[in-house]
Amino acid sequence: MGKIVLQGVEKHFGDVKVISNVDLTVEDGAFVVFVGPSGCGKSTLLRLIAGLEDVTGGRILIDGTDVTDLPPMKRGLSMVFQSYALYPHMSVRGNIGFGLKMAGLPKDEIARKVEAAAATLNLTQYLDRKPRQLSGGQRQRVAIGRAIVREPKGFLFDEPLSNLDAALRVNMRIEIARLQKALATTAIYVTHDQVEAMTMADKIVVLNAGRVEQVGSPLELYDRPDNLFVAGFIGSPK
Ligand code: ADP
Ligand code: MG
Repeated sequence: MGKIVLQGVEKHFGDVKVISNVDLTVEDGAFVVFVGPSGCGKSTLLRLIAGLEDVTGGRILIDGTDVTDLPPMKRGLSMVFQSYALYPHMSVRGNIGFGLKMAGLPKDEIARKVEAAAATLNLTQYLDRKPRQLSGGQRQRVAIGRAIVREPKGFLFDEPLSNLDAALRVNMRIEIARLQKALATTAIYVTHDQVEAMTMADKIVVLNAGRVEQVGSPLELYDRPDNLFVAGFIGSPK
């Protein structure tokens, strides 16, 4: 479960075409990275998949079901943002369980799921802390915990590590990749960082000005870039 298909997806903001005719298949269980320069439409494409923006044209299918007109909560995907967006007044436990509470799950079931997610993320000892009592990496793990407990078909990450320092970023890359494989969940991960894309992806989607330039494994893009844009972008880590 968790195959995501885009068919001719378009997004206009007023007269400005931000996403142009994107066709893409993200296989079940794959870790796919959207990469491209700032402003090329990575976040917009992710938000269209999440349902946080409406498409101007085209269709989005998840496991064969057309979700184009479904609200975010009905798509079975969980989004992790760069700003941790944790509730400052709630404990880690409260933050991780918040979505389940909103969905009306019974208290004991919420407790069980929150504790399982915390164990997976090595957060058990922090469950009663507030976000301000955590390090940046721990906060990011809480944000991931909040996504995990909903048992989504897919995770959508929008530059989740860009606020972290370099050393922590490397650790979290490894942790996110490990977690994604362990949960066998589809992931789409947005970054403008070529190194992140090359090290984390099963498949990279290179975006440029709202269009897909090339899709391939890190090795394919490195060895056989279709054009100069891809070659320049993949070959020149910042
Ligand atoms: P990226 O994530 O790759 O940096 P974005 O998807 O955020 O790019 O933005 C792509 C383009 O769409 C940019 O030119 C941006 O200014 C524009 N854009 C994004 N959101 C909106 C919006 N809500 N209204 C108008 N323009 C937008
Ligand atoms: Mg963005």
